[in-house]
Amino acid sequence: MSRAIAIAAIASAFVATGAAQQNRSETAGGDNDVHVLHVQQNVYMLAGPGVNAAAQIGDEGIVVVDTMTAGSAEKLVNAIRTVSSKTILQIINTHVHADHTGGNAIVANAGRYVTNAQNARAAGFGAGAPILSHENVQQRMTAESGKYKASSDLWPTETYFEDQRDLFRNDESIEVLYQPNAHTGGDSLVYFRRSDVLVTGDVFTPQRYPVIDLEDGGSVNGLIAGINHILRITVPSKNEEGGTYVIPGHGHLCDEADVSDYRDMVTIVRDRIQDAIKRKLTLEQVKAEKLTRDYDGVYASAEYTGDMFVEAVYKSLTAAAAKAPVATASPAKAPAGKKR
Ligand SMILES: [Zn+2]
Repeated sequence: MSRAIAIAAIASAFVATGAAQQNRSETAGGDNDVHVLHVQQNVYMLAGPGVNAAAQIGDEGIVVVDTMTAGSAEKLVNAIRTVSSKTILQIINTHVHADHTGGNAIVANAGRYVTNAQNARAAGFGAGAPILSHENVQQRMTAESGKYKASSDLWPTETYFEDQRDLFRNDESIEVLYQPNAHTGGDSLVYFRRSDVLVTGDVFTPQRYPVIDLEDGGSVNGLIAGINHILRITVPSKNEEGGTYVIPGHGHLCDEADVSDYRDMVTIVRDRIQDAIKRKLTLEQVKAEKLTRDYDGVYASAEYTGDMFVEAVYKSLTAAAAKAPVATASPAKAPAGKKR
């Protein structure tokens, strides 16, 4: 864990320095900048205000995973430009939420075909760097209604529906891995194989309880399957530290040990609530039992409390039980997806 902590410390020191410089040159205020952290080999973590993105940078060009909000996207592009002036070849969206896709148009337009992007878009052609997501993401964004309906310049231009889509960029295999019914109904993990860095979107968010978008098809058991999938990909180096690095959707850079702690927490809370449901407790009664009390100090915040997490898990488990009376999900079982 020490190396991850060291890197996190460097990152936060970096953030602190950036903020200090900003405060010197401007009036005091929160740090809304996007900071670049070299993770290893080709992969960089982009830490923006409350959300992360990632970039694979090589001789061929740049692959960007997630684009933050429209308000942060230009800073994201500028941060990438401090490392490389190469073309943005490809964008990948981990899921539909606006803090991961809101910058799609801005980042795409900064990419390939940029000179014709405006004209091409006006003429109804796709332009700029292609945007890949699971098909469910595109479906939500292009829908006539619904909370993820988005303007057409934000839509993914390429989708996949199989368990896994493989790309090859900068002499490196990139695996885009569908994670069904986890944080949302259309999550992808993105694994940079040679660099050995995994980008998880919001299937894994180390400093907060997992948000489960039930309305979109997310579920607690799918989320746990997703976290177990992450653990199957990650390999620690000899001393149990480093090895595969994990860039979460929100929070600091992690390694396998961090993911393992998180998996244990989510699984234990899920099991406690499952037990309470077996005892026929109502949601209010479950909340009154304070089943996340021992974790709240680490994972709860004003925006997302232990009670909110409990409610999401309760609803997810009771909805699953209503649909399929025989519960089969187990954290030890391999999640759906291509065997690796
Ligand atoms: Zn999300």
